[in-house]
Amino acid sequence: MTAVPANMPIPGHIDPVPVPRPITEREDGRIDLLGLPKKQIAGLFEEAGLDRKQAKLRAKQVYHWIYHRGISDFDAMTDIAKTMRPWLAERFVIARPEVVEAQHSSDGTRKWLLRTADNHDYEMVFIPDADRGTLCVSSQVGCTLNCRFCHTGTMRLVRNLTPGEIVGQVMLARDALGEWPKGRMDMADEETEAEYTADGRLLTNIVMMGMGEPLYNFDNVRDALGIVMDGEGLALSKRRITLSTSGVVPMMDRCGAEIGVNLAVSLHAVTKDVRDEIVPINKKYGIEELLQACADYPGASNARRITFEYVMLKDKNDSDDDARELVRLIKKYRLPAKVNLIPFNPWPGAPYECSTPERIRSFSNIVFEAGISAPVRTPRGRDIDAACGQLKTAAEKKSRAELDRIAAEKQAAQD
Ligand code: SAH
Ligand code: SF4
Repeated sequence: MTAVPANMPIPGHIDPVPVPRPITEREDGRIDLLGLPKKQIAGLFEEAGLDRKQAKLRAKQVYHWIYHRGISDFDAMTDIAKTMRPWLAERFVIARPEVVEAQHSSDGTRKWLLRTADNHDYEMVFIPDADRGTLCVSSQVGCTLNCRFCHTGTMRLVRNLTPGEIVGQVMLARDALGEWPKGRMDMADEETEAEYTADGRLLTNIVMMGMGEPLYNFDNVRDALGIVMDGEGLALSKRRITLSTSGVVPMMDRCGAEIGVNLAVSLHAVTKDVRDEIVPINKKYGIEELLQACADYPGASNARRITFEYVMLKDKNDSDDDARELVRLIKKYRLPAKVNLIPFNPWPGAPYECSTPERIRSFSNIVFEAGISAPVRTPRGRDIDAACGQLKTAAEKKSRAELDRIAAEKQAAQD
């Protein structure tokens, strides 16, 4: 084994690991339609033998049942001819991610441990509030970016989640919360659109803040959110969806242009030294480059601000000077910004502590007095390890020491 040099940089591969895997093959040979757009469903129906016109019509109906109604049994699709339903069921399924465990926090937060068809575990979290309910969705199993304060960052990346596995999280949450429109939904039915989108829903917002770096799984995240935002799909407004990135600068423009959701950026530090240490992707895309990409983000405005996430780490990034520098940077780039101060959520073996409440207050005041909103996020679901940065599935455990060793060996092999 190679000795680790004392001045070794914080390890962590910075480039995305390409793990293409569109649809996982099913053992029974049927194709899972979950996560597929209408066009692709029509293509599959045509390949299976329907003529083009039929395929298009059936795809429209099935798409509506899947995403608007949450139906996963072809037999319940009442506007499709009775003889057609078994034909569909022989060739296709509408699956859900498998739920391995569901946990309830004392504060109402719920966490689900999910399993992919090829046996990888990932998590989603639902956070209810008085005026909204937010689902925190994962984009990858694990993460390639070893942010030093993040528990997920101690997992290796196993693979990107498919669009079906991403949309599947939202579908499961709606199942669990009982939030599918009732009614029969025959196409000829009198039911109106208003009945589907009735207010008073529990699940109102989505944040791509679970496991993984969504911009390193761009295509699948874009396709999944496309279905979530589609008026004929899950019909959630893009204003209610936020994607959080650790700063994958080259993908930010495409994120704004092709997905168009709200942007959150995990800034966490205002100097190169500190950000290099705690968010290692900074060594590739530095703070100034990142903030310029934020200034250029399509669709950002005072009405749709960019959120800067800032985890409060004791004696690391939490001084008054840090707060003043944060203000200076936001003003320099004229960013329509708000700052979200996140008290550090501890996990076993974490190398940091949370800043004191007084320190957080002082930091928040400095930012706030400069005219920038800087609320402190209340930690939720800490008792079930569902809070920010605590997600990590037992099945994929790898200790930080082990990761450091692997990175050092890789480095040595390259030298
Ligand atoms: N990979 C993306 C999205 C997932 S992380 C990103 O990094 O932005 C969601 C948020 O939780 C990020 O801002 C992340 O920095 C923060 N976070 C990670 N670990 C944390 C911890 N232990 N305590 C508090 N926040 C944490
Ligand atoms: Fe990955 Fe985000 Fe955790 Fe960093 S904070 S390791 S990018 S999930």
